[in-house]
Amino acid sequence: MLSPDTARKRILGAVARLAPLPAERVPLEKALGRTLATDLTAEADLPPFAASTMDGYAFRSGDAQPGARLPVAFEVFAGHGAARELPPGACCRITTGAPLPPGADAVEKQEEVRRQGRTVILHRAVAPGQFVRARGSDLPAGAVALAAGAAVDPAVVGLAAALGHRELAVHRRPRVVILPTGDELVPPGRRLRPGQIRESNGVALVAAVQEAGGEARKLPAARDRAGSLERALRGARDLDVLLTVGGVSVGARDLVRGALRRAGARLQFWRVAIRPGKPFTFGLWGDKVVFGLPGNPASALVTFELFVRPALRALSGRVGDGRVATWVRLARAQEKPAELTVYLRVRLTAPPGTPGLGWAEPLRTQQSGDLTSLAGADALAILPAGPTRLRRGAAVRAIVLRPPLV
Ligand code: AMP
Ligand code: MG
Repeated sequence: MLSPDTARKRILGAVARLAPLPAERVPLEKALGRTLATDLTAEADLPPFAASTMDGYAFRSGDAQPGARLPVAFEVFAGHGAARELPPGACCRITTGAPLPPGADAVEKQEEVRRQGRTVILHRAVAPGQFVRARGSDLPAGAVALAAGAAVDPAVVGLAAALGHRELAVHRRPRVVILPTGDELVPPGRRLRPGQIRESNGVALVAAVQEAGGEARKLPAARDRAGSLERALRGARDLDVLLTVGGVSVGARDLVRGALRRAGARLQFWRVAIRPGKPFTFGLWGDKVVFGLPGNPASALVTFELFVRPALRALSGRVGDGRVATWVRLARAQEKPAELTVYLRVRLTAPPGTPGLGWAEPLRTQQSGDLTSLAGADALAILPAGPTRLRRGAAVRAIVLRPPLV
């Protein structure tokens, strides 16, 4: 059976041939969370002119001595065009963000001067450039503000707007189709008959895809019949990634892998030495990627976290899984099968970055079928393949799903 690291390498290797997805231009209002497809460059100096950073008075720094009296020649306000040249020995009133008049090279705050009618009395000498934002000091024209591959966050949106852009070239989001499978599944809102349960993985995966930066579409659950699965697969259009859920294990009605093969998918591997999520499968389907996730809710979300999330990020032009990893100490001893890497759902009792190791408290239930085992988890503690027992206090790596609040 594959180790999780090998499985992940093989997935990322296969996805690398399709990634990143092509660029598209989106308005700044829609760019949050995307990845820059091209360098963001400054076409002009930023700021475009030398400006005051204070409300006060601008003058030639050479004229500034303690006790110097400078007549106020004129006023410049933010938003007004460049004023006329400042006469030597004079000053002008200026506001924050207003352009420095030609000749002036320094500003003094209004709190630091005394105003007497049309004259200003300085208290101290002033260095050239004091309280002045030089033209191009943030970014000179032609400079690369951000390289392709950067994640678009609110500051990047603001920077792009400051540089005069209304749109950004970003990689297309991966379009992900989710196909739940199982005769027992009923969507919320409909009455449950004996033997039926709620279909919950579909929406959980829609949320996981959105969190990973993809665009998710959920199909109605297919039945555990070859015909039903094949019909559903034929109907899956306009997608980059297919996630099937359930039906990949060894049961008599686990028909998904056969249906995928008959639909033309080339499955690259089946089963990874992990718990939860062992029956996971991965393949290529034409120019699409297909992941067969096991149906147990915790297995579906853990295999998404380990294998699908990094693949979606690669397609979007990102690297890594975008999670913080940390060391933790197990708050309780754990038994495990030697051959499996176990992803233990834990609460963290100290935030990552706390000096010393935080404790990881395993949640009450670790059953693959129990969603409560994941819904309350801050992190997945990684119990490595090899040992069969980890003592209380053992240090292990953990993938932080949500940093605990301090
Ligand atoms: P399977 O992987 O199809 O063998 O399913 C394993 C377990 O997960 C079974 O108990 C299923 O009833 C359950 N299961 C499968 N798919 C879903 C789903 N979409 N929502 C909730 N539970 C599911
Ligand atoms: Mg099933």
